[in-house]
Amino acid sequence: LQTTLFQAQKMEVLGQFSSGVAHDFNNILQNVSNLIELFGYAREPDQTTSLLKRGRAVIACGQALTSRLLAFARKTEPLAKVLDPNVLIENVREILQLSVGGGIEIRTALQAGVWPVKADPGQLDLMLINLAVNARDAMGGTGTLTIATQNVALCDDAGGILPAGDYVCISVSDTGSGMSADVLARAAQPFFTTKPVGQGTGLGLSMVRTYLRDMAGDCKIVSVPGQGTCVSMYLPRAG
Ligand code: ADP
Repeated sequence: LQTTLFQAQKMEVLGQFSSGVAHDFNNILQNVSNLIELFGYAREPDQTTSLLKRGRAVIACGQALTSRLLAFARKTEPLAKVLDPNVLIENVREILQLSVGGGIEIRTALQAGVWPVKADPGQLDLMLINLAVNARDAMGGTGTLTIATQNVALCDDAGGILPAGDYVCISVSDTGSGMSADVLARAAQPFFTTKPVGQGTGLGLSMVRTYLRDMAGDCKIVSVPGQGTCVSMYLPRAG
């Protein structure tokens, strides 16, 4: 019985993982499709050069995704690099803008001297893309997406979701529709979605949370209906 149970659990994890990869891949393909459309309108050599550069960055994201898939199949450890969150955000900013479209303004509030974190940069990019796409859907084409970084020293009596220690908080806030208490309570459950069939898989937030927990971090979602949502991702300080 135990073997069967173990097999079933393995299949469930595999199923969730592959649906997750499909979800991320969809976001990447959407970006490629947007770029091709923009390419059709480009008249100046400067524009085409910049679009090609963005195309290469999107492809790098896709490659990071397939490496992750291969690493999972081979059961190797995920890539963990010490990185500066502010640099990562600046590097992925163009792709995020492409993901949300021109009507949404992306602002950053990056704390100077933010601590380094240890993470897979490709995976962090994908998490940010996921959150940006959710924010876009909640804002319906216009609004502001703010990405902020902050050093956070959690003490023993924080009583929160994480053990005491030093963390970097990367938050993604939007000025969208927000979530009711009911939706908020279920938002990070795998396969929970309020989007029409074919548009939502219900895997974005659950993957973000799983990845963060794998890295000894976690996430917190605060949402006010009619005002917006803020997803705070906590990652332990490296070193
Ligand atoms: P999906 O986007 O495929 O539905 P997610 O796990 O990313 O899957 O999100 C689950 C649900 O949580 C969404 O369907 C939506 O109802 C809600 N949600 C997620 N992010 C936001 C957001 N930024 N603003 C409002 N609602 C959100």
